[in-house]
Amino acid sequence: MKIKSKLLIIAGSDSSGGAGIQADIKTMTSLGSYAMTAITALTTQNTTGVLSVIKIPSKEISKQIEYTSKDIKPDAIKIGMLHSADVIEAVSKSLKKIKAKKIILDPVMVTSTGVKLINRNAIIKIKKHFIKKVELITPNIPEAEILANIKIMTIDDMIYASQKLINMGAKNVLLKGGHLKTKIITDIFVNKKEIKIFRNKKIPTKNLHGTGCSLSSAIATYFSCGKTLKKSCELAINYVNHSIKTSPNYGKGNGPINHLVSFKLDKKYL
Ligand code: PLP
Repeated sequence: MKIKSKLLIIAGSDSSGGAGIQADIKTMTSLGSYAMTAITALTTQNTTGVLSVIKIPSKEISKQIEYTSKDIKPDAIKIGMLHSADVIEAVSKSLKKIKAKKIILDPVMVTSTGVKLINRNAIIKIKKHFIKKVELITPNIPEAEILANIKIMTIDDMIYASQKLINMGAKNVLLKGGHLKTKIITDIFVNKKEIKIFRNKKIPTKNLHGTGCSLSSAIATYFSCGKTLKKSCELAINYVNHSIKTSPNYGKGNGPINHLVSFKLDKKYL
């Protein structure tokens, strides 16, 4: 199989392998692309929760971005956990230096088990500056509530919040509706010109660890290969849905999804 594109991931490491950088690499690899990394934090966790978080200094994050990209230029960039305003500033500068295009930001704030992964100043910085600098943001409902400063209870609230984020300067928004208590999951893609609503049946499962990371990585991968953002969102939602359906059910808690669902190994390697 020929490698289709090259991507850089700027995100935190998840020792359990289900979310963070590990989920990003698995997603991009299984969709046929080459993944490089700039690690922003080291989290120790398993499917039942987070034990500790070690933050990588901004200077080291910038070095990883710049030194890596100087040699192998990424076709797209996926950003996940940025824990402080300092880090956001440093990442912003580095992205400018490497003339990065096609940046997808998953504004990661808390884990699915409720552990905060970034501080208050970081949230302010993402809201006021960073959302304008990227091609797409992919908040879930709790993140969109914080960014748009409204309570989201219905699909109409989701539409209003995503349009508010566009008015605040975001270029494109994919607002993920998985947190609403509905049988059908609604994800909303918006920009200044269009709105597209994706509807999918909710899959009853306890295994959703890393779905946000995997979704934004899949979008970045399709986008890096030349698909439009809207099409990339549609394909990525489909990939994550299939990965959830075929989850291996590992661990006692919120288990990982099956990143290999797209993978077809040639017989000669088996
Ligand atoms: N990034 C890291 C390093 C994490 O550990 C987590 C959650 O555990 C996330 C991001 C967010 O994960 P999810 O895709 O489940 O929202």
